[in-house]
Amino acid sequence: MGSAICSGKLDFISLVKAHCPSCKKQRYFLFEMWEWYGRYSTCLKCGEKFFEGEMMERPFSPGWRQKNINAAKKLYRRFLKAANSKPVPKV
Ligand SMILES: [Zn+2]
Repeated sequence: MGSAICSGKLDFISLVKAHCPSCKKQRYFLFEMWEWYGRYSTCLKCGEKFFEGEMMERPFSPGWRQKNINAAKKLYRRFLKAANSKPVPKV
């Protein structure tokens, strides 16, 4: 744990349904927008990770797909929690 991308600022995160080139189906993706780094997306079904739309190198560790999925879900929950703790501006 403690990958390099965690040192940047997470600008935005969202769940988006898109075509997964690995699953060859419509899947839910977690999109992460990192300041300085760019856009990462993770397929929540197969765990394949993409950077700026390009498939990233697969790690040589067992269970990396599930690890990617769990990390994406954890990040999403953490982001939602952080977003909810901020006062909501009234328009
Ligand atoms: Zn997929």
